[in-house]
Amino acid sequence: MHELSIAQSLLEILEQEAKARGAAKVTRVKLRIGALSGVVREALEFAFEVASGGTVAEGASLEIEEVPVRIRCPRCGVLEQEGPFLVCLRCGEVGVLLSGRELEIDSMEIEDGGQGRQGHP
Ligand SMILES: [Zn+2]
Repeated sequence: MHELSIAQSLLEILEQEAKARGAAKVTRVKLRIGALSGVVREALEFAFEVASGGTVAEGASLEIEEVPVRIRCPRCGVLEQEGPFLVCLRCGEVGVLLSGRELEIDSMEIEDGGQGRQGHP
């Protein structure tokens, strides 16, 4: 399952980030996933839930922003369009892909380890 290995590498990044920031827990993760990334959203959500057990991100809520395919057509300018086409659906020219292949962490929320780093009286 493709999404499981994605979830696992995602979790590795989250573990490293959490460690680097001295966090005990990741509570929320926001991802950006392009329409051309080949990731099935539901499958990734499921894989993340399964793979996050016992990690810093156990129980974290996963938020996924789907990024549409956008191309720049030499004639029509920037267009958002359906499907994996680099060809402009309006005029048939070959365009340049601007977005749609994303597979990245947009943001994450963490909880510190209760060391009184901040927010404690
Ligand atoms: Zn066009």
